[in-house]
Amino acid sequence: MNGPKQPLPNLLFKDQPGESPQRPLGIPRDYGARRGLPVRKEATRLVSIGPNPDGRDVKLAPRAALAWKRMRSEAACAGVVLEPISGFRSVRRQAELIRGKLATGETIGEILRLVAAPGYSEHHTGRAVDIGTPDNPPLVEGFAGTPAFRWLRSHAGEFGFSMSFPRKNPHGIGYEPWHWCFKGLPLPRSRQSGRRNAF
Ligand SMILES: [Zn+2]
Repeated sequence: MNGPKQPLPNLLFKDQPGESPQRPLGIPRDYGARRGLPVRKEATRLVSIGPNPDGRDVKLAPRAALAWKRMRSEAACAGVVLEPISGFRSVRRQAELIRGKLATGETIGEILRLVAAPGYSEHHTGRAVDIGTPDNPPLVEGFAGTPAFRWLRSHAGEFGFSMSFPRKNPHGIGYEPWHWCFKGLPLPRSRQSGRRNAF
């Protein structure tokens, strides 16, 4: 499901028609540089974190999955329900998503405000998870008004997750209060203060 193990730049910029998920979509070659977005490697190891509300299995890279499970149960203890909406997504799948939107008449410029170009989505890494909560439609700004979002703002960092696309982010991507990425666990407090004291 991860697609061919090809180096991404070749996969993205090959000129042969039909082989590249990117060129036929009309994505500018300098997209990554202009948006300040690095090419993301596809995760090679994935584990399930359970079904999303549509019943589709959601997968993350192992360390992100473990952190998610801990975060979700801690939230549950506080009476907050976090639902996984979407996790790992292949480069190929990202291209399919964009093709689908182009087919409905949206322009590539409009699409790229809300969807990363294939190869540039944090979801390829298996470390990003779109989060929902019951009784709220998924992937809408209204998520920012929910107790789940307030809980995440206060506690997600303790589990190594941060919000990638706040309002007016430098990547020109719309506000995505539902999209959180595992950046690694913070150092224990004792070591943090030790480091601070060393300067
Ligand atoms: Zn996302």
